[in-house]
Amino acid sequence: MILGIESTAHTASVGIVSEHAEIVALVSDMYRPPSGGIHPREAANHHVEVLPGLVASAMEAGGVHPHDIEGVAFAQGPGLGPCLRAGATVARTLALVWDRPLVPVNHCVAHIEIARQLSGIDDPLLLYASGGNTQVIVYGAGRYRVLGETLDVGIGNFLDKLWISLGGTFPGGPQLEALARDGSVLHPLPYLVHGMDVAFSGMYTAALALDKAGVARADLAYSVEVTAYAMLTEITERALAHRRRSDVVLGGGVACNGRLRNMVRTMVEERGGTLFAPPNRLCVDNGAMIAWTGQLNLRSGRTAPIEESGVAPRQRTDLVPVPWRERPG
Ligand code: AMP
Ligand code: MG
Repeated sequence: MILGIESTAHTASVGIVSEHAEIVALVSDMYRPPSGGIHPREAANHHVEVLPGLVASAMEAGGVHPHDIEGVAFAQGPGLGPCLRAGATVARTLALVWDRPLVPVNHCVAHIEIARQLSGIDDPLLLYASGGNTQVIVYGAGRYRVLGETLDVGIGNFLDKLWISLGGTFPGGPQLEALARDGSVLHPLPYLVHGMDVAFSGMYTAALALDKAGVARADLAYSVEVTAYAMLTEITERALAHRRRSDVVLGGGVACNGRLRNMVRTMVEERGGTLFAPPNRLCVDNGAMIAWTGQLNLRSGRTAPIEESGVAPRQRTDLVPVPWRERPG
């Protein structure tokens, strides 16, 4: 078994996963700012406080003893520096105390690998829609390649920021989803697709202007969802066509959204493919995906000595080797 620690943003999470990808334990604790957005230092303080307890409860929940653990994986990046360091410090401590290898894991690759494992789809395209990240990712020649991404903020950060500016509290995505169910009038908003990239700041400004103009909140939420998720559906379809793929997996907190799932599913099925969305607890940031990707890294011999285990807040998906995807011959 491998123990995995996730702490890239607001979620501190510990997962334990067997070599057969069985999730033995998964416990999480999300930092919720009392008002406004996420402050990296405050989130990191939260993680420092809760992580030791999460490790203990994961071990207890899974009935796991330290000698069952073969390695300690942690999310090395991308993410918020202070938050990453909190998780890495706990991982290093456990690796030293238990005398086990330390396995750094790329957070985006982990979203793909858990979805790939659960879906049984061998070579899917990933639409990764989370707070800080919005990317369309596919495997090619030894690396996961980012075909398209946001040019400004992540879709979740956009939804959260909009909701907070409208007087709400974090997280905005699920609350906008609930509100949008009562909406029916589609107000035009900036639809910013550039090739396979997207941008959201124009929509943020325009949505606040619509609110000032007195547009009903439910219609505003509906218009924002339809427009933003259509943009994501379009870049996903472009990437599928371009790379001659047919199957899509979803990852990231925004992938919990029912409308996004339905829109992407309709597109994928019209093209003859399959859409797989992991259950919500494995779609959002979680320690199980880190532990599972730790298994893949460990089997490929990709571990790190403590002195080379620094965090990498800007680690790009396509800079990380994924040798387990290479096929002999
Ligand atoms: P993550 O960064 O992957 O942990 O996901 C957190 C982000 O997901 C936050 O920005 C949330 O607002 C967003 N989110 C969570 N649930 C939903 C939902 N049902 N619809 C839209 N966004 C959501
Ligand atoms: Mg994530």
